[in-house]
Amino acid sequence: MAAGYREASQPEKSDLVIVNTCGFIQPAREESLQVLREFAESKKAGQYLVAAGCLSEREKQQLAREVDGLDALLGTRRWAEIAAVVERLQQPRQSPYFHFPETDHILEDDGNVVRAAVQGSSAYLKIADGCDRLCAFCAIPLIKGPMRSRALADVLADAAALQAAGVREIILIAQDTTTYGRDLGLRDGLTELLRQLNRAVPQVPWIRFMYTFPGMITDELIALMAEKNAILPYLDIPLQHAHPDVLQRMRRPSDMQSVRATLGKIRAAMPDAALRTTFIVGFPGETEAEFQALLDFVDEIRFDHVGIFPYYHEADTAAFGLGDTVPGELKQERVQRLAALQEDISLARNRAWVDKELDVLIEGVGDDISAGRSFRDAPEIDGLVLLDEVLEVGALVRARVTGALIHDLIAKKI
Ligand code: SF4
Repeated sequence: MAAGYREASQPEKSDLVIVNTCGFIQPAREESLQVLREFAESKKAGQYLVAAGCLSEREKQQLAREVDGLDALLGTRRWAEIAAVVERLQQPRQSPYFHFPETDHILEDDGNVVRAAVQGSSAYLKIADGCDRLCAFCAIPLIKGPMRSRALADVLADAAALQAAGVREIILIAQDTTTYGRDLGLRDGLTELLRQLNRAVPQVPWIRFMYTFPGMITDELIALMAEKNAILPYLDIPLQHAHPDVLQRMRRPSDMQSVRATLGKIRAAMPDAALRTTFIVGFPGETEAEFQALLDFVDEIRFDHVGIFPYYHEADTAAFGLGDTVPGELKQERVQRLAALQEDISLARNRAWVDKELDVLIEGVGDDISAGRSFRDAPEIDGLVLLDEVLEVGALVRARVTGALIHDLIAKKI
């Protein structure tokens, strides 16, 4: 914007197309590549095509080779320099321009660019980037590098700008939000950030944070969530597995009693809290008994939402050396068994909301219908609340739940 560019409503009418690629597992790479090729094939004269994001960071040479018509590649930590990249594209060149400067402190030198992606009434606000952990299956630290937290004042300033723009929900994101601020010398930095944020943006009714790490959810964080209405009682704790041996092979925390204790504290402080997690099935060496332990754990805890992924064998990760030992068909079968179990649980947890009241943030309307979300649902990955009348998009309405589906609730405005 500051450089004089405007967002175009349709890619075919734009002078510049930026594809934010994802490169951490094979299906994401394939999708990114396909989108880039489609844009390259339909490029109009004078239009530039830029690949940004993780895949361009991870496989820059390969992307340049495989996408005919790609004009530039931009690294994950220097995205705010897109205007300089576009200027550079206007100079004569033979091949794609690679913009990967050596320094990686985008979080300190992003030139007053608000680090948020706004979608309707909600905004994702990045508080840190990168990861210091060594989970055996994960390529993200290889792509993103070590964790760097944004200064607390910068996050608050962005949040204030979002509040001024009328945003109703701020979603704090990082690879691991519970580690926020450690590199700044903060102890329990997420709790401190949330405490200050809650004061700084009183007109934002919903503050949510996503992607926490087992063992990093402090008593202070739970107490703050229970005390402040605006900090939603929603916790996304990717656990990845529930058998200690698999977790050890994954190089993840493997003390399941400690996980149970944390989940117990959350539910004691916030009985209606929505709990979300993610599991990987078919990790190298996963036995039937280990998988059964995962099923038993899911049955015991009864999460509201569970994301299930088959293990993807990624080169350069620590798990690659273990071999991809669980056959693809068995992985899929385990995905389906876990999904079937969770569907029953999700339906039961949704049914428990029938006749109760919820606030619903309206996100879309159709013929005599509105769709929104409650605190229990993060955008895109969780469910919806459906209401049988047309309401104002962006409104936060009180509603009584009248019906339950596996993922969604049906409700009536009161
Ligand atoms: S904490 Fe998350 S981002 Fe970091 S290495 Fe583990 S899985 Fe990857």
